[in-house]
Amino acid sequence: MKITEDCINCGACAVECPTEAIYEPGIVWKIKEKFMPPISKEHFFIITEICDECAGLKKIKCIAICPMDAIKRK
Ligand code: SF4
Ligand code: SF4
Repeated sequence: MKITEDCINCGACAVECPTEAIYEPGIVWKIKEKFMPPISKEHFFIITEICDECAGLKKIKCIAICPMDAIKRK
């Protein structure tokens, strides 16, 4: 999953994500006790190592909620 520059930073996808894989722009994130630099400073971003593509759910929650159609499958 990838968030494109069409994102308007509404934050709706981050609230919906069951794996907490979506972060605010410019924020430092953490994986395996290691801090990582933000992937984007302009728009929300998805950590592919954390995202499980909504495994077991009927729909991809972030794509379903995004008002801008800004989330794409890689
Ligand atoms: S596909 Fe599902 S798990 Fe992955 S970022 Fe979107 S809501 Fe989160
Ligand atoms: S729901 Fe869409 S527009 Fe809103 S923050 Fe997520 S990617 Fe950006």
